[in-house]
Amino acid sequence: MLNSSKQKLISLFQLFTKLPKLHRQLILGLCLVCVLLVLAPVSYQSGSTDIALPALADPEYVAAAEQTVVQPNIPDYEWIVEDGDTLGELFSLFNLSYTMSKILEADKNILSLDVINKGDKYRFWLRGNDDSFDGKDIVLTRMEQVLGIEHQVVFQRNGDGFEYQETILPGIWKQRSINGVIKSGSSFYQSAVAQGLPANDVSVINRLLKSKLDFSRHTAAGDKFQVVLSSQYIGDIKTGNTKVEGVRFFNRKKVYSAFSFKDNYFDSAGDGLERAFSRYPVNARYRVSSRFNPRRKHPITGLIRPHNGTDFATPKGTSIYAPGDGVVKRVVRHKYAGLYVEIQHSYKYRTRYLHLSKSLVRKGQRVKRGQKIALSGNTGASTGAHLHYEFHVNQKPINAMGNKVPVVIGVDRKSMLAYKKRVTELIKLMESETLTKVNLNADNSG
Ligand SMILES: [Zn+2]
Repeated sequence: MLNSSKQKLISLFQLFTKLPKLHRQLILGLCLVCVLLVLAPVSYQSGSTDIALPALADPEYVAAAEQTVVQPNIPDYEWIVEDGDTLGELFSLFNLSYTMSKILEADKNILSLDVINKGDKYRFWLRGNDDSFDGKDIVLTRMEQVLGIEHQVVFQRNGDGFEYQETILPGIWKQRSINGVIKSGSSFYQSAVAQGLPANDVSVINRLLKSKLDFSRHTAAGDKFQVVLSSQYIGDIKTGNTKVEGVRFFNRKKVYSAFSFKDNYFDSAGDGLERAFSRYPVNARYRVSSRFNPRRKHPITGLIRPHNGTDFATPKGTSIYAPGDGVVKRVVRHKYAGLYVEIQHSYKYRTRYLHLSKSLVRKGQRVKRGQKIALSGNTGASTGAHLHYEFHVNQKPINAMGNKVPVVIGVDRKSMLAYKKRVTELIKLMESETLTKVNLNADNSG
């Protein structure tokens, strides 16, 4: 599809002349025409669009115009990802391979450019006055990554490099209950998916209840399940993000349950259902060679280069262990981060391991706490062998050596009354299948 991109770009610019900016172009164009008519009334012959176009691509012009006219800042080019597309192809189409390496340098601490999903939007603001678009004089000033209605990343030029800013909107979460019965010859997974529960959420339920109930062995036809699922909305639009708020599974006269409370899951008695994380992903105390620092600046360029992880001075080949149970989401090679692994532990937690020499896991694999997942190394842009370890809570990096790393054992005494109230509410919702309600206090606030 990228072959047609250049064509799209050209037609996009042609389209600009017809879009709401028309009046501004006309005014600008006419002014220039008037000036030219006064200065050289005979020699001036070409159309006004040639004069107006370069100004449109100039961000200063756009910014100035926005002070008087409230209008969305229109990108010069928008790319909607289709199957098989790569970011590299697009950048080389504009002859911007050097720019891409500068963007990837900024991406090292957010790693949002490695997974290109169909339907994601990329918006480009370009500067340059070569309207044949052979790429010679094009400068990329800004790139926006639209990863969902609730999630955007902006890469903004600053001198020769880029800085990034990530926006994740909390939205509102609407709850509904999904009930079902396991049919003969069918598994819990199949029955739950058939009732409309997303596969990812079925996996979460499996993980939460597996220490008490073996779904593959002990479930049988006739077993009932009740789930309260919340879906994220921005305005009236669903983002596609969902979360299990509570589940009850009825098996052989017993009820197995899990309820979310303050972003963690507990059973009906208030005991934690998720194992605590290990503090370190290595089994010896290595020296911390660089600490977590979200406000770090590059000493020479002055660009903000947050250090979103903790560096351990591990010799090449040191074994890395998963600090908690989870699923491998990425095994990727990045120009600056090197070979890295990402593990999603629950809706809330994920971890990353950069500059590896070898991965011992593959994408989609389930891993257990303490499982060896990789060997440390010195790949990517790294000044020496070390492990860069990141811990994220609700998609934001936190200091893994700080106090927020979860060690949840159970609902604390002070919160028990609130927890019981929440359980009662969730059960009420499970029992009244048609009832839906908006939960503004959804556990996504952290
Ligand atoms: Zn680091």
